Amino acid sequence: MYFSSTLRSTVSQQISYQIDNKLYLSITDRCTLECRFCPKTQGNMSIKGYDLTFEHRPTTEEIIDAIDDPGHYEEVVFCGYGEPTLRLNVLLEVARNIKSRGGRVRINTDGLANLVHKHNTLPELGKTVDAISISLNAQNSEIYNLHCRPNLPGSYAAVREFIQDAPRYIPEVSISAIEGLEGVDIPACRTIAREHGIKFRRRILDQLG
Ligand code: SF4
Repeated sequence: MYFSSTLRSTVSQQISYQIDNKLYLSITDRCTLECRFCPKTQGNMSIKGYDLTFEHRPTTEEIIDAIDDPGHYEEVVFCGYGEPTLRLNVLLEVARNIKSRGGRVRINTDGLANLVHKHNTLPELGKTVDAISISLNAQNSEIYNLHCRPNLPGSYAAVREFIQDAPRYIPEVSISAIEGLEGVDIPACRTIAREHGIKFRRRILDQLG
């Protein structure tokens, strides 16, 4: 296992953080969802002992500086308490840098990038992203809206469309839902994954993935 010498944080703010042999990047604190189950929604910005509280949104340069050697990690994951695709251009630039230095890139996303940015972002993402984990979260819009409280109308339909299109552009696509939330039907979510020929990951509440 490779351990970064500094864990690549800036002095004042944790931009990158290592868990097992993966390096995670926290590039924004903004979301288009306000998930009831999310620690951030409940005022808790820590993950596995790392405090991801934002003092400012890091620049592209600060994020790249927070990645010591991407090739030493199993993968570099855009994650954190915020939706990374909200900063699409920053994400793409950092992802290109990671790839140029021999790293593997994964994005953990709500799958709403196309709805937010009003165009198909997948061709751009597909040029630099090796894997994408999309939070499906529910088998229908009623349960999705109950737990995720989206700001934008049509969010559930948008995430379903994103899931359908993603495998055309990104080599490894998976979707997830959280076990134990009221009304969430894990077998039904697994069936949706199977219909698209992609992986399903059952998540446990409060565990990072
Ligand atoms: S999208 Fe992610 S970070 Fe944002 S509120 Fe939902 S679970 Fe939390």
